[in-house]
Amino acid sequence: MSTFRIGQGWDRHRLVEGRRCVLGGVEFPDCPVGPLGHSDGDPVCHALADALLGAAGLGDIGRHFPDTDPRWAGADSLDLLSRVRDLVEAAGWRVGNVDATVITERPLLAPAVPRMQGKLAGALGVEPGQVSVKGTRGEGLGPEGRGECVTVQAVALLQRPGA
Ligand code: MG
Repeated sequence: MSTFRIGQGWDRHRLVEGRRCVLGGVEFPDCPVGPLGHSDGDPVCHALADALLGAAGLGDIGRHFPDTDPRWAGADSLDLLSRVRDLVEAAGWRVGNVDATVITERPLLAPAVPRMQGKLAGALGVEPGQVSVKGTRGEGLGPEGRGECVTVQAVALLQRPGA
């Protein structure tokens, strides 16, 4: 039986005027655009959830929380992430560490990174030091560079308890 498993996740949401901006469970009240989605649209939580589910071999976020299900309309994605943690733990794993790269022009992420780490760590039941969030920009290239979307890449490592 494996001691460690690794998974990756990717998510992209269109940025829309007047939409609440929530990234990594942190609200950016001064940002004029926010990620469109069936839930609160937080692509950091979604990419991390897919990385964790992938590592555990449990499919993807759309399988567990379909966007056709009214239960998840406007859902707090931190809550979805903590449900994913429950699924992963029920399968006999615990979270080792996670790392996410957020590619977006807006908002400026750096000042909020410690708060994101705290929120995400709370949802995952780990220490903030086990959660990494990094922001980067599209440098004018592609849909991220034009400010049309926010894209997140994530990886997660799972461990067997006691390993
Ligand atoms: Mg998503």
